[in-house]
Amino acid sequence: MTHSLTDIEIARAADKKPIQEIGARLGIPDEHLLPFGHDKAKVSAEFIASLADRPKGHLVLVTAINPTPAGEGKTTTTVGLGDGLNAIGKSAAICIREASLGPCFGMKGGAAGGGYAQVVPMEDMNLHFTGDFHAITAAHNLLAAMIDNHIYWGNAQEIDIRRITFRRVMDINDRALRQIVCNLGGVANGFPREGGFDITVASEVMAILCLATDMADLERRLGDIIVGYRRDRSPVTCRDLKADGAMAVLLQQAMQPNLVQTLENNPAFVHGGPFANIAHGCNSVVATTTALKLADYVVTEAGFGADLGAEKFMDIKCRKAGLAPSAVVIVATVRALKMNGGVGKDGLGEENVTAVKKGCANLGRHIENLKQFGVPAVVAINHFVTDTDAEIEAIRDYVRGQGTEAILCRHWAEGSKGTEALATKVVQIVEQGAAQFAPLYPDDMPLFEKIECIAKRIYRADEVLADVKVRKQLRDWEAQGYGHLPICMAKTQYSFTTDPNKRGAPVGHSLPVREVRLSAGAGFVVVICGEIMTMPGLPKTPSAEAIHISAQGFIEGLF
Ligand code: ADP
Ligand code: MG
Repeated sequence: MTHSLTDIEIARAADKKPIQEIGARLGIPDEHLLPFGHDKAKVSAEFIASLADRPKGHLVLVTAINPTPAGEGKTTTTVGLGDGLNAIGKSAAICIREASLGPCFGMKGGAAGGGYAQVVPMEDMNLHFTGDFHAITAAHNLLAAMIDNHIYWGNAQEIDIRRITFRRVMDINDRALRQIVCNLGGVANGFPREGGFDITVASEVMAILCLATDMADLERRLGDIIVGYRRDRSPVTCRDLKADGAMAVLLQQAMQPNLVQTLENNPAFVHGGPFANIAHGCNSVVATTTALKLADYVVTEAGFGADLGAEKFMDIKCRKAGLAPSAVVIVATVRALKMNGGVGKDGLGEENVTAVKKGCANLGRHIENLKQFGVPAVVAINHFVTDTDAEIEAIRDYVRGQGTEAILCRHWAEGSKGTEALATKVVQIVEQGAAQFAPLYPDDMPLFEKIECIAKRIYRADEVLADVKVRKQLRDWEAQGYGHLPICMAKTQYSFTTDPNKRGAPVGHSLPVREVRLSAGAGFVVVICGEIMTMPGLPKTPSAEAIHISAQGFIEGLF
């Protein structure tokens, strides 16, 4: 079955229920829903606090093989599986990230799923939504302004203006602002220095909002942000500048998770959206724990392929928030397997069983890797209309040989009907209770050994290459009391290696570490391997050129 409507046309035709009805299904009383219009609401902090003693439901992670640049459908499959679980009679909610305006007007498009597996209202979700990202942008830039203001008024903290690490943010892709000189214009405007902008989703404030458990934890973490260093290299924190309280005030409303619905009127929490490279790439801990107390099954997504996304989900989010996933769904597509099998972008539309079989090595390694976390995995083949039966059969055969199952899913074309088999399998896995979640490495392992552990056991690299400066920096942080933090890897999502062109399941490579950064507020050490962009640029023809309002008042061009 196929359909010719665009995502936005399908979303606009949705038969949405008032948000109070969706909340009632989860047992959220009206007075604890803070509505934004008729189809979006925040869930009150007071109600969330009242759930403290409730037991948690089962957490299911949706991850993927190494993708093509178009994305393989993790969000779409998260939505589809949530609807599928509801369709077979389970109480299920989904948890996904909010969308950034950057990619929306650039090239990747929206983040609300696709086809008949979407979250609505799609336009709002992809645009200003409930204002969370604007609040994060404001809180972040308040601190940035207070840094320059502190220096202007005498610099009592003795911040070395050459060593300010905290940049400014905005939620638009704008390469012109990557490196700037600020405070120009004479004595009245302060001391000129180099600075720059990142995209809002790369802000440490975003990562903090997504990992904080409540307002007190949020404020403490904000205070811990390191904004720069003194001449003696001692860190200056946000708390030293007394910005943490005001930032928490700006974020109070944004800390409350947003409730919306899928096309099939099932509950969806959409909250937070940290980068999947220099941050951990998952929706907020508050949303996930709240959903787990209100539904028996919670399906969530982690950004990028399983080597990055699932690893950080397990080692950062689950470890820190005390979550334990019961099952993992690995999304695979015929086109991404072909690409992992060596086919170029232009050849992905033609049948190529040989390439699919070859690319299965990539899937196999992700299956093996996930076993190391003690969580059972099943494969979801996200069906595209161009897939052939022979290609699908090749994947099924291969996965059977790996001791698990690959299930064909047609949620993009058919909604929940297309994921009932997957949902049934997930329930079976969960009910068997075989999961014994454990993070990959212990808290007390030295930082460099943690990096080696991820490199060798997940990426299958032979060694980690890092110069003396990097190793010394890690030892200094250990001496300062940061040694217990988990690692947040930043590398290409297209390969197990740092070379995006090395597809499949490469061996015999090294992992070069270029730089390490301390996100003391978020609570992780970022390890940068290769070029990482924290302020994307727009493509030659940005989606923004086609986005407009029709004569009937409808938004067009979002996808
Ligand atoms: P990810 O979360 O892995 O980045 P998404 O779920 O956002 O991927 O999907 C990426 C894009 O691919 C979306 O525009 C979505 O509509 C589209 N897409 C997903 N699954 C299918 C499918 N089975 N057929 C056609 N398009 C799809
Ligand atoms: Mg996604």
